[in-house]
Amino acid sequence: MSWLTRVRNSISFLPKRQTTDTLWHKCKKCDAMVFTKEWEDNLQVCPRCDHHDRIRARTRFAQLFDEGEYTLLASPDVREDPLKFRDTKKYTDRIKAARTATEEKDAFLNARGKIEGREAIVGVQDFAFMGGSMGVAVGSALVAGIKAAIAAKLPYIIFTAAGGARMQEGILSLMQMPRATVAIEMLRDAGLPYIVVLTDPTTGGVTASYAMLGDVQLAEPGALIGFAGQRVIEQTIREKLPDGFQRAEYLLEHGMIDMVTHRRELRATLGSLIDYLAPASQAAA
Ligand SMILES: [Zn+2]
Repeated sequence: MSWLTRVRNSISFLPKRQTTDTLWHKCKKCDAMVFTKEWEDNLQVCPRCDHHDRIRARTRFAQLFDEGEYTLLASPDVREDPLKFRDTKKYTDRIKAARTATEEKDAFLNARGKIEGREAIVGVQDFAFMGGSMGVAVGSALVAGIKAAIAAKLPYIIFTAAGGARMQEGILSLMQMPRATVAIEMLRDAGLPYIVVLTDPTTGGVTASYAMLGDVQLAEPGALIGFAGQRVIEQTIREKLPDGFQRAEYLLEHGMIDMVTHRRELRATLGSLIDYLAPASQAAA
């Protein structure tokens, strides 16, 4: 035991949770050590370099909604492991492990609440659950969220984060792409806005469907957004890609998205967008 550990352990007034591991947060981008409390109060954005860390669905809801208050919507039950898929591990075992690690049932949650006084239904894709991958459970939860928005005549806002389709569900995962597209059309027919916030990373089949269909496309700073990976593209076209390729700022410059919004500004921006796009939806709420 080093002298430092001995000294630390002898400090009895530190609560148990606050070990050096939880007291400090190391920034993944600039390596700065920041007090976890300071980092959390800064919406999990590095106060030194402004790196926007990936955040879990419930944390997102707590940050986004007024006073951190929201109602979680139930996600539909789906048939699990329809293909009885197995690679190096059984798919059912992978799901079990992801559930234990994340304490969530799958990679998508919906909640209803107020953003600066405006009501909305918000869906969040959780990258921590099998890379946020889009399977039948994610597709079904997304459709359920949109249906809830139509029933309540409220805007639907989605935060995307995914490595792509869930390959263990094969064609059924790819079917979620047109399925989500049809649901978004239903929302549009009801005259309600669909607002997308792209977060780090949004790639693959998710980018090829519901992540790019927003009436307004927002992204968090520095978010990786693309279809195929940079290495695959470089090997295919045999060219070096420019710096910052597939980052939110690059996409904004090239007209793929409408805004890059700091996490601190998200509530105000979403609030104004709801005012512009769906003032009537707030009349009944
Ligand atoms: Zn940093």
